[in-house]
Amino acid sequence: MTKGHSEMEALMGFMDRSTSPFHAAHELSMLLDDAGFTQLDETNRWDSRNGSYYVIRDGSIIAWALPDSVSVEDGFTIVAGHTDSPNLRLKPILSGEISGLKQFGIEVYGGALLNTWLDRDLGVSGRIVTSSNGKLKERLLMISEPVCRIPQLAIHLDRNVNEKGLVLNPQQHLRPIWGDEHSIQESFSDVLRERVLENDEYLESWDLMLHDIQPCALAGIDNQWLSSARIDNLVSCFSAISSLIESTSRSSHARVPMVALFNHEEVGSNSTAGAASNFLPSVLDRILENPIGADKHKTLAKSSLLSSDGAHATHPNYPEKHDLDHQVFMNAGLAIKRNSNERYATTAKGQGFAQLLCKSADIPFQIFSNRSDIPCGSTIGPIASTRLGIETIDMGIPQFAMHSSRELCGITDIKYLQKFMLSYLGSGSLLDT
Ligand code: ZN
Repeated sequence: MTKGHSEMEALMGFMDRSTSPFHAAHELSMLLDDAGFTQLDETNRWDSRNGSYYVIRDGSIIAWALPDSVSVEDGFTIVAGHTDSPNLRLKPILSGEISGLKQFGIEVYGGALLNTWLDRDLGVSGRIVTSSNGKLKERLLMISEPVCRIPQLAIHLDRNVNEKGLVLNPQQHLRPIWGDEHSIQESFSDVLRERVLENDEYLESWDLMLHDIQPCALAGIDNQWLSSARIDNLVSCFSAISSLIESTSRSSHARVPMVALFNHEEVGSNSTAGAASNFLPSVLDRILENPIGADKHKTLAKSSLLSSDGAHATHPNYPEKHDLDHQVFMNAGLAIKRNSNERYATTAKGQGFAQLLCKSADIPFQIFSNRSDIPCGSTIGPIASTRLGIETIDMGIPQFAMHSSRELCGITDIKYLQKFMLSYLGSGSLLDT
């Protein structure tokens, strides 16, 4: 098997297993463990030393390597992304029965395309918190079987749906069915208890969500696209960690290579683990605490951040939704994102830097800018750059159906992204001063 094939298989396995941000962080930590990285615990004291480390906080993960040849005062090259994706989340009480069918309520997490959750075979995953002998324990939960379903109303009962569009009320129309009057369990929490609890355990609470159990697939006549859930933004997460591992094993560095992947981007990043939290500043502080005397201001001024997230490829059925001067296409190169209103953080300096890196590594690039009469989406780039005051580049791969439960992107672009990240992690300061 060629290297390219095995890498794509590894990515596809990761996409299928990373059904929640907690699973994504866990899967990435296993890749790092295999590569010899050491996990640090935020509740312990960190004795700074050279080597490769990572730390996890609530579905976010930060990993870095301190090569012998580099001082922390040379600055950091940080690749950032997000581990969460829009989906449907289980409520704290999971009961309800109507017309002989057992159901529970959901909350919409982030800007999900609601129609894409209908008529799919849905599993459940996330984390549960249990107690035993007065102690709490956090554990991952995964039910990758079609235990839940949200059936769409038949067209015979909704005659105008194709002309007027589908309107879904999340409280009323998105309650999944999971059992009927013959089912033994009374509520879905009984299902969870039966599936995961050990003898002396009590199920206290959960952060659980639905996922489509259909595995990802290569699509198109030449297998040129990846069809998967959570392309936004797990492709960036996998590419970033793979590039960091490859970078630490073989590249020379001018700055300290780091990857920071955050939970809660899809709901604004304000949380204990989000990009607006103290997670990244705190990790940087702790790395800089030792050696004593490291100049934080100098370090930050010499650092830069690459925020990798999806871009909207021009949709052939809706060209009027795109700025035709700034179209981006799948499998045609990385999209460098610009927005004067700081919805993307890329400045002229950042764009120039990204273009130079692309040219030197022979990676095609495209420039994305939203239509001026449509509000632009955003990402963690502006949030992280505000928090740290470091130069930030927003870029990513073009894709279709962003925030659908099934998205599409180009295979060649994933290879370009990994190549670019590898090149970026080994790069020196942004400007020749
Ligand atoms: Zn995203």
